[in-house]
Amino acid sequence: MYLSQYLSKAPALPSFFILITTLTVGALGAEPEALPIATLEQIQTAALQSDYGYTRLDYLCNKIGPRMSGSPQAAAAVQYVAEQFRELGLEVSLEPVSVPHWARGQETAELVKIPGAQPGFKQKVIVTALGGSVATPPEGITASVVVVKDFEELDKLGKEAVRGKIVLFNVAFDTKLADAGFSHEAYVRVVPYRVTGAKRAAELGAAASLLRSIGPRNFRLAHTGSVGYFGGPKIPAAATSAEDADLIAHLYREGSVVMHLVLTPNILPDERSANVIADLRGSEHPEQIVIVSAHLDSWDLGTGAIDNGAGIAEILQAARVFQQMKLRPKRTIRFIAWMNEENAANGGNGYDQYAEDHRSELSKHVADIEIDVGTWHPVGYEVYASESLLSALRPLRTVLGKISSGVVQRRPGHGDMDDFMPGFEPFVDNRSYYDSHHTVADTFAMIDPRGLQENAALVAALGYAMASVPEEVIQHPRPK
Ligand SMILES: [Zn+2]
Repeated sequence: MYLSQYLSKAPALPSFFILITTLTVGALGAEPEALPIATLEQIQTAALQSDYGYTRLDYLCNKIGPRMSGSPQAAAAVQYVAEQFRELGLEVSLEPVSVPHWARGQETAELVKIPGAQPGFKQKVIVTALGGSVATPPEGITASVVVVKDFEELDKLGKEAVRGKIVLFNVAFDTKLADAGFSHEAYVRVVPYRVTGAKRAAELGAAASLLRSIGPRNFRLAHTGSVGYFGGPKIPAAATSAEDADLIAHLYREGSVVMHLVLTPNILPDERSANVIADLRGSEHPEQIVIVSAHLDSWDLGTGAIDNGAGIAEILQAARVFQQMKLRPKRTIRFIAWMNEENAANGGNGYDQYAEDHRSELSKHVADIEIDVGTWHPVGYEVYASESLLSALRPLRTVLGKISSGVVQRRPGHGDMDDFMPGFEPFVDNRSYYDSHHTVADTFAMIDPRGLQENAALVAALGYAMASVPEEVIQHPRPK
């Protein structure tokens, strides 16, 4: 855990801290106007009492289902979310986005040759295709397995040892990091093997690529995610559970291991989909935009509840609170349900399309407050912004601190829209986030209704605060 997370246990900021804050701001000579604290408190209270988001998430997960880019369910979800925003009185438009359409097929694997095993024994292995993977022939492939712990070991083996084999990247998710509250760091360390492993193995002539799932060694789950070929040769790519990866590595140390692998996904023509845009028009500066957003598409193994139906439910709940309170922010608050965050090895088509379509207005965008963190308790928010903006937002901490959400954690500019505007995201207790991530376990059963309300309260308060901060702090140069 970060030291600052411990500090967040205090229900409100100690008075000496507020004093220091005031002095610092005064010393910079940029005395910010006070934020509308009473309104922000009312927003928080209203969001913590509503079950609006939870009921919408129930529908999204359990009546529409998983929302793979290009699928009929994703199309239905676009219409459903647009309809909810319309009912809340927002100005809604659907902005077209072209998305890949990939559909999972059959996926099975077994070890058909195991050193020292009883004749005829075949060990079933849990596998799931990575999004965008090409298929094996319908009858599958049978090949020896080569186990490597990293790219260096793969390259050392070279073409001679790899040609015609199934390469298993046995790179463990660092659970020590995750348990200490750094699960995103643990995740990003392994992601390159998922995204580019197949390409690297294919360049050495491998027949298929297998990834140890990115997640803890826990309940034998296979975690999907996107794979990229980047113009290189294409071979089938799948993930196996951490336990199966350990088993294969154990057997491989004893001798030759042969696997039969069947993957029959379909790569279909691109589909026309959309970002859902819903504006609550600003009273003083309608041309200035505060984005409050979440991605609407999901993986297909579960029902995309944590990732990221929860985020959609949280922004819907924020919109609902503004409607209930009849709030009219100074700047336009633009809710966006993004399309195609998940099945995209190169970023995400929804973000790219938005940046292209709105290029001339991007300088008027004040923030992207984006949520993709499930329903774990937010200890505060992560932010990519200038010092003067952070100073102006400081009073918000006294509001958020009341529900232990007052920690402000600066982040490098890695958010989806960070190239164009300041970025915000709830900073949650994410120690178990990757347990179910991109697996069959990501269903409505994972949702914590209280955490949903807390995250909704956070993004609603942040959104309204960003619509209220003084002009001079948003005109400050961008952080990058
Ligand atoms: Zn996500």
